[in-house]
Amino acid sequence: MDDGFLSRRGMVRAVIGSATMGIPLGCSQQTAGRKTLDLPLRTPAVEPTIKVRLLDLPTSVLKVGDSSTITRFGGKPFAGPLTISYTKENKGSTWKLLRGSQVLTEQQGGTLDLSSPSDFLINGTQFPTNSLSLRHQEGMIEVVGAFGLETYLPGVLQRELYSQWHPNTYRALAVAARSFALVRMKDRRGKFWHVRASAQDQAFVGGEIRTVATEAVLKTRGQVLTWNNQILCAYYSSCCGGRPARASDRWMSPANAVPPLSGQGRPCPCQKSSRYRWFSEVSGRKLGGEVGLGSIRSIKPIQTNPWGRTVQFQLRDNKGVTKNLPSSTLREKLRAAGADVYSGWVLRCENEAGSLKLTGAGFGHGVGLCQFGSEARAQSGLTWRKILSLGYPGAKIAFNWGP
Ligand SMILES: [Zn+2]
Repeated sequence: MDDGFLSRRGMVRAVIGSATMGIPLGCSQQTAGRKTLDLPLRTPAVEPTIKVRLLDLPTSVLKVGDSSTITRFGGKPFAGPLTISYTKENKGSTWKLLRGSQVLTEQQGGTLDLSSPSDFLINGTQFPTNSLSLRHQEGMIEVVGAFGLETYLPGVLQRELYSQWHPNTYRALAVAARSFALVRMKDRRGKFWHVRASAQDQAFVGGEIRTVATEAVLKTRGQVLTWNNQILCAYYSSCCGGRPARASDRWMSPANAVPPLSGQGRPCPCQKSSRYRWFSEVSGRKLGGEVGLGSIRSIKPIQTNPWGRTVQFQLRDNKGVTKNLPSSTLREKLRAAGADVYSGWVLRCENEAGSLKLTGAGFGHGVGLCQFGSEARAQSGLTWRKILSLGYPGAKIAFNWGP
């Protein structure tokens, strides 16, 4: 999810997402007048399959398998560690399967489907999938794995939460992440992939998964958040800075203007995050250049949400010209100007000889479940259901595809 707090840490980079962070996705579901869950048709007892964009490879080489595995390429089985390459020439493109430098077989153009009787080892990391699809897209190779939804979710929790955190934090996030995934699956039905394995959708890793993550998914199996009989697009982020954001202030979609995505007035106990308050600085001249003004002298809050979180700021330059920006845009502009900021909620801005000293709050968009706040609530004895009710006020918990 947007700026999940592990996304900047130097841990295993088995999954490479796009470099662009914090894209406002929004969800396209409609909320009015529906009486039943508006979900993809499926047999209730059958676990849905989610297509996850695992890798964007800048090079045209992918390593799959090891000495004990079989890879099916073009329907034929090949044993051992193999390499997939993609070459584009004037007459067309070619996928090749190689062992060392020996070409075993080829396929002309199109997308490439690989399967295996066992879990795939991809560039040295094992993923719980035996079906991969590859395509060439805008100079990159997209590697997409097909996962059972419940098999996918532990890899999300593994990447999004700290290892020592409380089981109830894991369970709350399992339900939120499942809900978010199902909405994205519906929004992108029929597409080459449903979600990216990055903070743009949900962070995700393969490899060894800790027990608390797998147990949290198992204990909440099939359960989702709903509002008005639809699955909620359950956004979450690392730290809200003490006051939640409203989804509708950030993503202009009718589905986002609903009570469960609007936060609630009680303060969120996420002070243990190192980004609960953050400090940064930026050149007023550079920031002005990013927003089409002269050198910025001040950034002032001009509008807050009902919980006291600023949603609109006014920037003023050295000639007194002003420009109003929503917090998410301010965050982008600050980053573009070279500031190391973690949210768009600036609490204070002091101008010292052309340099703006910033104090801000939170990490991520602040909508929905706050991960650090959830952990504090779990530590204080709250159940995962109660944690969800505070993160998504008014939402119900229901079984989606059958217990
Ligand atoms: Zn919080």
